[in-house]
Amino acid sequence: MKINELLMEATLKLKENKSDTPRLDAEVIMAFHIGKERSYLIMHFNDELDSKTTEKFREDIERRALGEPVAYITGYKGFMDLMLQVDKSVLIPRPDTEVLVETILERFKSKQSKIKAIDIGTGSGAIALALAYYLENVEILAVDIDRDALEKARMNGCRLGLDHKVEFQLSDCFSAVEEGAKFDLVVSNPPYISKKDMDMLARNVIGYEPVMALYGGLEGMDFYNRITKEAPRYLNEKGILAYEIGYDQGQKVKTLMEKHGFASVEIIKDLAGIDRVVIGFMAAGN
Ligand code: GLN
Repeated sequence: MKINELLMEATLKLKENKSDTPRLDAEVIMAFHIGKERSYLIMHFNDELDSKTTEKFREDIERRALGEPVAYITGYKGFMDLMLQVDKSVLIPRPDTEVLVETILERFKSKQSKIKAIDIGTGSGAIALALAYYLENVEILAVDIDRDALEKARMNGCRLGLDHKVEFQLSDCFSAVEEGAKFDLVVSNPPYISKKDMDMLARNVIGYEPVMALYGGLEGMDFYNRITKEAPRYLNEKGILAYEIGYDQGQKVKTLMEKHGFASVEIIKDLAGIDRVVIGFMAAGN
């Protein structure tokens, strides 16, 4: 069959199965199977696809139709300018998290001296690796409590040639961080979904992505409580703590940071106008 015929067949199937982006999903999966960029397809809609590839493509469309996220099917997800390998051990990097990285880049891009940072719950390594990619003079400790996730992050670091700037370490928040270590930045996209919101997650999230990376306790605040309490001890005088947060957690996280001694705290919205990032400064006048 021709590529376009297969894409139409797949789009129809995914539409019936409630994908929000059926044509896009089909094209991404097709491009993956023929080993090209999605843009390649436009000029090759009339090419015949061999029967073996056709069969594999259809199998993967079946997986997608059952709800599996495209990124777990192809094993890759783009994050900013980076292509990250992902599997079921890590949360799929979201565009939401790009807001967090961009907020940090904004604050640190003019800093001349070396920046020391720690990324807590690094997962695929998205945040740590993006910071390593965009900041010249940076040294990042990427930690995760999950061995498989950490292995993924490490692999991504090696593949992208960023491993000289990032160290990977198994750690439950700060548990394995040396006493007396000081950072300019503590960053985290911790699990923050509350108990009631867990029930509302889309089926392709809850059925496939690691609950461990999503569930943040009854109110979704467990990790903010832990990290915010410990962070000041590990931050330099002018250090920064930056989080991704859930839609209704901005004010709560801001109050928490103020309680633990941060001199000023800002809430930043994403493109949809939803509170998405909270950033706290140890010293006033940042
Ligand atoms: N943004 C993710 C979601 O809504 C949650 C990420 C997290 O808990 N850190 O699926």
